[in-house]
Amino acid sequence: MRIIVTGGCGFIGSALVLHLVEDLGHEVTTLDALTYAANPISLRPLEGNPRHRFVQADICDAQAVEEAFAAARPQAVMHLAAESHVDRSITGPGAFIRTNVVGTQVMLEAARRHWSSLEGAEREAFRFLHVSTDEVYGSLPPGGFFTEASRYDPRSPYSASKAGSDHLARAWHETYGLPVLVTNCSNNYGPRHFPEKLIPLMILNALEGKPLPVYGDGLNERDWIHVEDHASGLVAVLERGRVGETYLLGGRSVRNNLAVVKALCAAFDRLRPEHAPHERLITFVADRPGHDRRYAIDPSKAEAEVGYRPSRSFEQALEDTVRWYLDNESWWRPIREGRYSGERLGLGSAK
Ligand code: NAD
Repeated sequence: MRIIVTGGCGFIGSALVLHLVEDLGHEVTTLDALTYAANPISLRPLEGNPRHRFVQADICDAQAVEEAFAAARPQAVMHLAAESHVDRSITGPGAFIRTNVVGTQVMLEAARRHWSSLEGAEREAFRFLHVSTDEVYGSLPPGGFFTEASRYDPRSPYSASKAGSDHLARAWHETYGLPVLVTNCSNNYGPRHFPEKLIPLMILNALEGKPLPVYGDGLNERDWIHVEDHASGLVAVLERGRVGETYLLGGRSVRNNLAVVKALCAAFDRLRPEHAPHERLITFVADRPGHDRRYAIDPSKAEAEVGYRPSRSFEQALEDTVRWYLDNESWWRPIREGRYSGERLGLGSAK
């Protein structure tokens, strides 16, 4: 299949592109603006691979997007490009509205024009998969779970902009008939995760013996999914999802932030016992404004309809992730030292 993946140089996009090209043999065009969050090194394994093409373009640039569609002649679009960091959306919401809302509209319009030009079986088979977050549903009461029927209640500029993009994607299906699918997923972790998010930030701070800053009381709960389980789930929805439907993807691994940081410390104690105990590095910092208390996904619909299965054990995969950062310093060192420093920007933990 010929697929356009937007945001393919980001954390989830790169895992997805590698899976599509290397494991499944699809032909992928990665469309990415290479913002601060991108790391093109992530796609280095595909250098010289004739099944992969990279286009540097901003999804808000309608002409560039149009040209990418003309060259790629996609049979599917998987739309992941976004501004994705909640803390940055609080200090600078404009970029989130531009990329997540306006950029999604540009993508939908380009897809609609392309789809309208197709005929017969090709037109029937075309899909636009819009990739979104569980944060659009706001905060859950203790013990609750989101389902596809949960009410939208976004509470940060990031989640509000993603909610807007979800509504646009569904509107393009209802209004124009574009074969749209929507997924909303929980917190991802795994290799190639930009070190401003909770897990990689904690890993690199622990590695350097720096404080591990935990927001508030640390009891905010998240449902953690390994990025490769997410990538497999997206492919399952693309292949077997019903057009116009939404599917929630989660890891069935709800943990509070403090438990996650303690699990990371335990992994470090095993891997680097000479620096144990790592829990001594945990420090509590002022909470993020509007910090949602609990997100948790009930993925039953995706499991029943498309055969989605989160396959990783959280604690084991977390230790594997720590090992990945220990083994791949050349991936994160330039980000950590040059273009970005979480501490310098005053960022704490969390997605
Ligand atoms: P990321 O920040 O790691 O990567 C985003 C990518 O999009 C980067 O490569 C960046 O260069 C690109 N991009 C940003 N603005 C662009 C623009 N205007 N034009 C073209 N490319 C642009 O994000 P991620 O964590 O990989 O998330 C990918 C998608 O998955 C997002 O839509 C996000 O909302 C969604 N999501 C993320 C999570 C998570 O836990 N990270 C969970 C659920 C859903």
